[in-house]
Amino acid sequence: MTLQLPTQIDFRSDTVTLPTAAMHAAMTEARVGDDVYGEDPTVNALEQLAADKLGYEAALFASSGTQTNLLALLAHCERGDEYIVGQQAHTYKYEGGGAAIFGSIQPQPLEFRDDGTLSLQDIEAAIKPDDIHFANTRLIALENTVGGKVLPLSYLAEVRELVDTRALALHLDGARVFNASVALGIEITEITRYFDSISVCLSKGLCAPVGSVLAGSTELINKARRWRKVLGGGMRQAGFIAAAGMVALNENVERLAEDHSKAEKLYDGLRPISEFNLCDASVQTNMVFLDCGASVATPLAEHLQQKGICISAADKVRLVLHKDISNEDVDTMIASCRDYFQV
Ligand SMILES: *Cc1c(COP(=O)(O)O)cnc(C)c1O
Repeated sequence: MTLQLPTQIDFRSDTVTLPTAAMHAAMTEARVGDDVYGEDPTVNALEQLAADKLGYEAALFASSGTQTNLLALLAHCERGDEYIVGQQAHTYKYEGGGAAIFGSIQPQPLEFRDDGTLSLQDIEAAIKPDDIHFANTRLIALENTVGGKVLPLSYLAEVRELVDTRALALHLDGARVFNASVALGIEITEITRYFDSISVCLSKGLCAPVGSVLAGSTELINKARRWRKVLGGGMRQAGFIAAAGMVALNENVERLAEDHSKAEKLYDGLRPISEFNLCDASVQTNMVFLDCGASVATPLAEHLQQKGICISAADKVRLVLHKDISNEDVDTMIASCRDYFQV
């Protein structure tokens, strides 16, 4: 089998990454069985690996991060319960309202501060008293990284303390949590230790073609496994994709540092272009944001498309660095933008 190569320089997301040669080999050779019967050895091995690496009793493999987040909400909350979440959080805004649709779980969204944290005062104020007028506040859901930013460890400790005091649970949408641990230069468990459950995407910077994992206590994962089947997420010989997920966890975590350095390089190269408004602090992980407005972004996106570069034309353009963008591609992007704006 020949390895597929990227056909364009695609800055839209790290979800576009193609599987590595090691993943192709692992998928070809995977031993599989019926995972709904618990008999797929590769899925079982991936779940064990994820639980061990993330520091939990158990883990569950699912089709997407949207599904692992939903499974977490369904496993933590009952009908009529409530979760506190960021207004711009993926688990609230970008998952189609799944918690409300499938779980009758009420979201209580709060504004993020600039650093992606929810203020402890806002959280405290949003927790409902035990009163028949209110939904039961059950869970807080955070996101890390959030808009490419890393949540400070001291903040995680403070939220954990609040959660313990108020007898709530704490979930992390850790779609890109390994970007956070790599950026901080710490073990992943230094982050995960504060959370009752975590969802991690294998299909972003870690380059697996499909899949996410949810990790937590055995009790929580058993509940989530039941909900996964109810949602139609029992995938039978899923070991073929789980095999790539194992390569993602075993081989592709450290390489995220390369994505971060490419993001810095891109940031430095684009900084002279005043239309981009790249004034804020700096790049923390694998994303650069252009605060340029759609009237600049739309014609720019059309111009770049002709050079084989793909960006999303939005009010605030998110450029995401990943395996399939090389240092040379970053140079091409910088030169194309400078050329366009004659900088
Ligand atoms: C990508 C992402 C998810 C899950 O997305 P899927 O496409 O469903 O795998 C969840 N949270 C965040 C923050 C994400 O970026």
